[in-house]
This record gives sequence, C-alpha cells and structure tokens, in this order.
Amino acid sequence: AKQDQRGRFVWYAQAMASETRQRLTMLHDLRAVIEGQGMQLYYQPQIELSSGQVIGVEALLRWQLPNGQFVPPDRFIPLAEYSGLIIDLGEWVFRTACLQQLEWQQLGVGALRMAVNVSLSQFRHQGFVSMVKRALTELGVSPDMIELEVTESMAMHRIDEVRTVLRQLTALGITVAIDDFGTGFSSLSYLQRLDVNRLKIDRAFVNDLGRQSERASIPEMIVKLGQSLNLKVIAEGVETPEQADHLRELGCDEVQGYLYAKPMPADDFVRWFLMLPEG
Ligand code: C2E
Ligand code: CA
Ligand code: CA
Ligand code: CA
Repeated sequence: AKQDQRGRFVWYAQAMASETRQRLTMLHDLRAVIEGQGMQLYYQPQIELSSGQVIGVEALLRWQLPNGQFVPPDRFIPLAEYSGLIIDLGEWVFRTACLQQLEWQQLGVGALRMAVNVSLSQFRHQGFVSMVKRALTELGVSPDMIELEVTESMAMHRIDEVRTVLRQLTALGITVAIDDFGTGFSSLSYLQRLDVNRLKIDRAFVNDLGRQSERASIPEMIVKLGQSLNLKVIAEGVETPEQADHLRELGCDEVQGYLYAKPMPADDFVRWFLMLPEG
C-alpha cells in the first residue's frame, strides 16, 4: 500500500509540476501579448516624512500606442473592467510589480514596499485572493513588502464581502491602503472593522492645503482619524514644499507626488534612487 501511495504521490507531483509549467507558459505568453501591446509599469516613490527616506513605490500602469502617444489609465482601465480584460491585465500588473520588488531587493537597490492598484471588478472577482496567494508563493516575494491600494468607494461597496476579502488578503501577510481617502463617506465604526493598514489622502485635498477652502481641513481630520485608529497616513499629489511642510506639521507619515518624482520606468527609477543624497 505504501508503494501505491508513493506512486500516487509521484503522479500527483508530476501533474502539479506540469500544471504549474502550463500556467507559467501561459503567463509567459500573456506577458508577451500585454507588453507587446505597449503596456508597462511606471513607479513613483513614496517618502517617509520623518526620515526623508524612500520607503516604497506605487506601480502605475501605462499604455503607449504605436504612435508613441500614452493613453491615460483613467481612460483604458474602465474599458478593461467593462470587457473583463482587467482580470488578466491585473494579474500581469500584480506579478510584474512583485517581480520588480524582488529584483530591487535582490540587486541591493533597496527593500522597497511595492503598492499595487486594484480595481473594483478585480477585487470582487472570486479568484482574486487565490491569484494573489499563488503569485506570492510562486514568485517567493515577501508578502509584507506588497501593498494593495483599494479605493474608499470600493471599500464601501458591499461591506460584508469587502471585509471578508480584506481579512483574507491581510492574512496572507500583505498590507492594504485605502486610496483616494476622503472622497467617500466611511464611518468611523466601519473603518474600525476593516483590516487595513494605511489611509491615502486624495490628491484633491492636498491641492487645497493652505488655501481658503472648506476642504483645507480634511487632511488634518484624516491624519487624526489615522492616529486614533492606529493607521499610517500617506498623502498623494504633493507638488510643493509648502504642502509637504504642512503635512509634516499635521503629523502625516508619508508623502508621494511630483515634488519628489513623477512616475517613471523601472530603469529611470533606479537611476533616480541611486542619485539621491544619503538620508
Ligand atoms: P491613483 O491610484 O489615485 O494614482 C494617482 C495618480 O496621480 C496617478 O495618475 C499619478 O501619476 C498621479 N500623480 C502622482 N503624483 C502627482 C502629483 O504630484 N500631481 C498630480 N497632478 N498627479 C500626480 P495615473 O498614473 O494617470 O493613474 C490614474 C489612475 O489610474 C490611478 O489613480 C488608478 O486609479 C488607476 N491605475 C493606474 N494604474 C493602475 C493599475 O495598475 N491597476 C488599476 N486597477 N488601476 C490603475
Ligand atoms: Ca493609487
Ligand atoms: Ca489616489
Ligand atoms: Ca485617484
């Protein structure tokens, strides 16, 4: 019977290996197609305000047409969602970002947290958590170096479903940020029940900092909310030193924006990163 079990195990292992091989071949093909269509990830640094250090990057998808023009993601992502293509495209984005994180870590560029955007239909796709899990295992990336950015409006969509998925994702060891925060209407009690690690202040509010506007006080409210819920707070769209100073005074943890760098291809990011003055 032992022999029998062994035989079955060998058979099983072979079947698994060939399935993995098939999947890897398919992913290889998918990569060729997607990259052949002009898709590429750009990376924008995220900076810790207290130390001035780059602690992470956000991966942002770019689509360049054969004539050289870029189609903005705000235009093609809704299309990809509508057509269902976002599932394959999203898997490619996730894997490419994970591989980039690993490469930078292994080459000694740095242990940078990699933030990946997720859209609503991806998040609600039943295979999403297993896709993430499979990619993390197959690629051997540290889950705590990977963050998913989920918009506040998505997080508000179907509360019970969202809570379950977020719990499964964070159980894998990855972190979650709520993107475009301040644009939705999350209640304190709801936020408290979600497994998330970071709030990302929407660009529109950063833009209004220091202006005579009703929205100018929102970043402060978000920082306080983060502090009381023990969540880190990052601000996006920081364009001026005044905005950065303002955010530092409020106690915001991290920043991202054109003041530091625009999103750029991987090679440019490495050049930029290596040329930074120490500290
Ligand atoms: P987002 O996640 O809110 O990304 C922030 C956007 O602000 C990016 O636009 C970024 O390039 C831009 N940005 C960064 N710093 C500054 C700044 O200082 N000033 C200004 N004016 N803009 C700044 P981008 O790259 O065009 O992306 C637009 C949106 O497309 C993203 O908004 C995100 O919702 C979506 N997106 C991008 N890549 C992906 C992806 O891989 N998957 C999914 N599902 N969505 C993505
Ligand atoms: Ca984002
Ligand atoms: Ca955002
Ligand atoms: Ca946005």
